[in-house]
Amino acid sequence: MRPIQARISTGAMAHNLRVARTHAGAARVFAVVKANAYGHGLSRARRALAAADGFAVLTLEEAANLRLMGVDQPILLLEGLFGADEIATCAELDLWPVLHHPLHLDWLRQHPPARPLQVFVKFDSGMHRLGFPLADHASVVAAVRSVPGVAGVTLMTHFAQADEPAGVDWQLQPFLGELAAHGLPWTSANSAALLRYPATQGAWVRPGLMLYGGSPFADATAAELGLRPAMTLQSELISVQMLQAGEGVGYGQLFRAERPMRVGVVACGYADGYPRHAPTGTPVRVDGVASRTLGRVSMDMLCVDLSDCPAAGIGTPVVLWGEGVPVDAVAASAGTTSYELMCALAARVPVVETG
Ligand SMILES: *Cc1c(COP(=O)(O)O)cnc(C)c1O
Repeated sequence: MRPIQARISTGAMAHNLRVARTHAGAARVFAVVKANAYGHGLSRARRALAAADGFAVLTLEEAANLRLMGVDQPILLLEGLFGADEIATCAELDLWPVLHHPLHLDWLRQHPPARPLQVFVKFDSGMHRLGFPLADHASVVAAVRSVPGVAGVTLMTHFAQADEPAGVDWQLQPFLGELAAHGLPWTSANSAALLRYPATQGAWVRPGLMLYGGSPFADATAAELGLRPAMTLQSELISVQMLQAGEGVGYGQLFRAERPMRVGVVACGYADGYPRHAPTGTPVRVDGVASRTLGRVSMDMLCVDLSDCPAAGIGTPVVLWGEGVPVDAVAASAGTTSYELMCALAARVPVVETG
């Protein structure tokens, strides 16, 4: 069998949820499990994160799957309704939709649910992606409350820069200031806000990335935040090459040896989800020793420096990210984020679940 595998630890996810709780105060915790639980598997994440107060997904299909798996906690539909036909299913499966557009209120009036729904009304506090304008809050909240199909309202917003120095205050203060008069429960925090800004707690927090052991911050590692990597992508050397000074390796010959050196060929490439843009020098671990990639990542292979691993040969284990190689460091080297790497794990990579 091709030796690549993703080892996914349910214990790490459960641990990271406990870390999220230590930051959540009295707020309840939605475990965000959209995008196949950021590549970790919806069913696996549901088991690992069973202690969450609720789950947050994007689609009705994900929500229905969670109900089939026996989830009885609240389920939030983060991106709201994609059509009026979804309202009946929300009622049937007790799903909580986000309402972020006047159209959603029309749909609810025209297709009243069999039982009234808990809804989350999303306001745009500056991200300018989804949500009602903050300035319209009085009429929007009144309109939502007048819809017979609505049982309860929670106010919601989302931060654009919670992971950056600009922070959340420029959005949080107007959101709370404008909406305080309604006396309604509210939710605002993603992982970054939850970790750094206790004032964002509200009634519910919505961590995703941190549950899987990624750090949202460029200036703090996951380990410094007390998080454990949930996914370790590992493979093995399937060949070893000897380069002479001046010889190059791989497509484009992007890396050239300055002196004679051994190069390992790893069974992992961009068709497995490893980022093709990772340049020479991206961290890897070969037989437990910190090393680096060399040259261009191919579809099914990449090359690593064996200068510090004289005993390495065919079959030597290589960690691409996870235990011992922070996924955030690999992502930073490739000019992307750990979100993208985790979500892009390819279906062809076998998953082994660990405790
Ligand atoms: C994905 C998402 C989250 C989780 O964000 P992380 O940065 O992964 O913690 C929270 N809220 C909304 C609306 C989202 O779409």
